[in-house]
Amino acid sequence: MAKKIIITIDGWSSCGKSTLAKQLAKELGYVYVDSGAMYRAVTLYFLRNNIDLAEKKEVKKALKDINLEFVFNPKSNNSEIYLNGENVEYLIRDLIIAEKVSDVAALKEVRALAVAQQKKMGAKKGIVMDGRDIGTVVFPKAELKIFMTADNAVRVQRRFKELYEKNPNVTIEEVKDNLEMRDYIDSHREVSPLRKANDALEIDNTHLTEQEQFQKALVMVRKLIGSK
Ligand code: C5P
Repeated sequence: MAKKIIITIDGWSSCGKSTLAKQLAKELGYVYVDSGAMYRAVTLYFLRNNIDLAEKKEVKKALKDINLEFVFNPKSNNSEIYLNGENVEYLIRDLIIAEKVSDVAALKEVRALAVAQQKKMGAKKGIVMDGRDIGTVVFPKAELKIFMTADNAVRVQRRFKELYEKNPNVTIEEVKDNLEMRDYIDSHREVSPLRKANDALEIDNTHLTEQEQFQKALVMVRKLIGSK
């Protein structure tokens, strides 16, 4: 059996990280973890409970009351996130969450909670995790680190299409503003800012189909673990 490795996929918002991560996990029989879902679920909790991000005590207390879990759903063929026992996988994709998530994810207390759990999930390897700081902070020794980029206009179109299917009231300007804001906050925050790890391999998928990007990544994987 091929050796199991850790694959990290970081990059800008709506670059197709999760699509690639799911393709690789399926092909390799690995676990896929969407680290962004954790920050989104914490944001949902904070919004529901009117947590003031400027009040450290309030934030710390709230974090003690949060339990996050991923549960595999064979119907969607995906691990879905549960917040204190409630499946919030679909709720957290809303633009209302996207508007706040980068501010929440910039808090060091929130990151400490998420990163500790993420590290545990990788203990047995055989995992593909996507996010912003996975190759730099969560698994700095990962065997394969991928950094994804794509032109802004392409990313906006992709995310707009996704959100529009669920909510036809969403506008392209809203989506564009949100992506730009998140990219800015994510790459300028003090704790674990989004950046390409020195040893990460870059995939720009502006002009790639999903299949082409998958093949490119698979070549990287096979170089490390050989063929099946
Ligand atoms: O990946 P996704 O777009 O769902 O992530 C939502 C937000 O969560 C990001 O914009 C970022 O603020 C935060 N995030 C993070 N670190 C990660 C994953 C996501 O700060 N590893």
